[in-house]
Amino acid sequence: MADPVLLAVASRATSVADCRHLLDMLGLLPTVTEAESALPQDDQEHGRMSTYRHGCRCQDCRNANARRHKQWRHRAAHNPQSADRAGHGNASTYNNHGCRCEPCTEAHMARINAYRAARKAAAA
Ligand SMILES: [Zn+2]
Ligand SMILES: [Zn+2]
Repeated sequence: MADPVLLAVASRATSVADCRHLLDMLGLLPTVTEAESALPQDDQEHGRMSTYRHGCRCQDCRNANARRHKQWRHRAAHNPQSADRAGHGNASTYNNHGCRCEPCTEAHMARINAYRAARKAAAA
């Protein structure tokens, strides 16, 4: 389900960068992905991490990002010390290092709950 506000912004934006700028001003940037994926693709080269980092959320760029994260997580999962280095009790340690210790799981759940509450508040 797309957020009507985001879609309205996306339909008015002239480019991905413009869209991000508008959303940034509205304080909506963290939930921007749906709106950006609805934008027409421009003719820059896609399917790269750099375009993803510049805010493109087209399928090619998302795939590039997912591939990179998968590789990174794979490496991290086979190196238990990486979770220790990152520190426990963090949602990022849970996600990126595959740690399922109690503090990391709690932090992960807290982040999900906060995200859901924010979505609910935005929808209301
Ligand atoms: Zn792209
Ligand atoms: Zn942990």
